[in-house]
Amino acid sequence: MIAKNVMKVNEWDTEVWYEIGCICTGDDCRSQIAFEIDKEFNHIDIIFYKKVMWADYWGNNPFYVKWWKRFKASLRILFTGYIELEGDFMIQDIDHLEAFIEALDEGKQKMLKLKEEHKNGN
Ligand SMILES: [Zn+2]
Repeated sequence: MIAKNVMKVNEWDTEVWYEIGCICTGDDCRSQIAFEIDKEFNHIDIIFYKKVMWADYWGNNPFYVKWWKRFKASLRILFTGYIELEGDFMIQDIDHLEAFIEALDEGKQKMLKLKEEHKNGN
């Protein structure tokens, strides 16, 4: 089956990468998911790469209100060291969702195989 809006970007011995497109097809919305196995510490990393934005684009605020919100957010990062952001995966339909799940499952299967190989001393 041809995956809808999901593709395997690359695969190496201990890692596999997928790209998940957004229904808007915008480059800013694309997400990447990497599955990596760390043989030294015997764990699996699942890394989500996504551009997340400070949500000042909602509403009809004039530019100075948006700028003020960004300034307050930057102060929060400066003084607390963190900020809470969110980003969603906008899934178009069942085919898109199935392709997303298929990529997650394929990555999971690769990690299970590598863990098993590692347990057996490879
Ligand atoms: Zn989008």
